[in-house]
Amino acid sequence: MVERIVYLDHNATTPLAPEVLEAMLPYLKDKYGNPSSIYKKGREAREAVEKARRIIALSLGIASEDLVFTSGGTESNNFAIKGVALANKCKGNHIITSKIEHLSVLNICQFLERLGFEVTYLDVDKYGMMDPESVKKAIKKETILVTLMHANNEVGTIEPIEEISRITREREIYFHIDAVQSFGKIPFKIEDLGVDLLSLSAHKIYGPKGIGALYIRKGVNLFPLQHGGHQERKLRAGTENVAGIVGFGKAVELVFDNFEKKRERIRYLRDKLEGGLMARIENIYPIGHPTLRLPNTLNLGFAYLEGETILINLDLKGICASVGSACTSGSLEPSHVLKAMGIPSEVIQGAVRFSLGETNTEEEIDYCLEVIPAIVKRLRRMSPFKNH
Ligand SMILES: *Cc1c(COP(=O)(O)O)cnc(C)c1O
Repeated sequence: MVERIVYLDHNATTPLAPEVLEAMLPYLKDKYGNPSSIYKKGREAREAVEKARRIIALSLGIASEDLVFTSGGTESNNFAIKGVALANKCKGNHIITSKIEHLSVLNICQFLERLGFEVTYLDVDKYGMMDPESVKKAIKKETILVTLMHANNEVGTIEPIEEISRITREREIYFHIDAVQSFGKIPFKIEDLGVDLLSLSAHKIYGPKGIGALYIRKGVNLFPLQHGGHQERKLRAGTENVAGIVGFGKAVELVFDNFEKKRERIRYLRDKLEGGLMARIENIYPIGHPTLRLPNTLNLGFAYLEGETILINLDLKGICASVGSACTSGSLEPSHVLKAMGIPSEVIQGAVRFSLGETNTEEEIDYCLEVIPAIVKRLRRMSPFKNH
């Protein structure tokens, strides 16, 4: 019997779309040219890279030349934050971020603090929502950069980026957002968001791992972090990951094809899972904003249980979910995101994130609604925290 897998961890990574693999394969086989070479094989690789860049740029409503390929969301965040910080040191040394950022942002900020930068970590409300007023209050004359996430990976809350960018624009401060989770899940154009820098990653949208991009608005002063050849307009040296870039372009094309319909289907399945679990299990708490939330994300606090124990038992039934983010799991540290939201500790420790995707079916959700309440009931009977 084939073991059943219900994959509900799309915020950690997504399966590669078969069409993406197909599009990549020629560039891993006979189309192996270096895009910088002038003969036909090189030009064919160059054309593929530039075609992918056009597709991604078009989806964001920007010019192709404002997009630089990187090795993923982490590198894009490093490039944006360190690049701006180092290039604008003479103007000021203050950076504003939030307490609920991805570790790739928080750890960059901590590193910059060691180099003499000052960082303000903004609070969020109980839904994980940032307050534009708090950004305004945190700005000082030394502030050179505001870096925030568009949507949170753990709870799915969508932040008020447009309102914040009105403030940063008025004060002429660079604004970077980590859009790794929002891209391909909610519609947006960069001009509407009003940001100067924006990070993307392919493997969260059914593309390959190890490829991403950074949008850099014209005129933004930032240093390259990777020095070497003249690739990517000297902003990111190194021979391009041609197959990865082609795969990224294909993934973007696919994710926006029939976008509304796919998004509503995922939202319907997420809501069914949420409503079904809430109706069948006592003492569970939805975490994150009730409406301003990614349509695929569900974070539930199972009070008086350990999230890790729930995960192990879900895994035995073939259900893949997570506690916190993929990067922090295994550390046993309670989620910094849920802590910043002020969620009570007995709910945090039992928090589990389910993140849905395009391949999930209603039948899989029905299976979860059958299996998960039984698991929770059994674990609660054994729970040392409280008798049920
Ligand atoms: C996954 C993720 C990243 C990191 O992207 P990689 O391509 O895996 O380096 C950054 N930020 C957020 C919000 C993410 O979810």
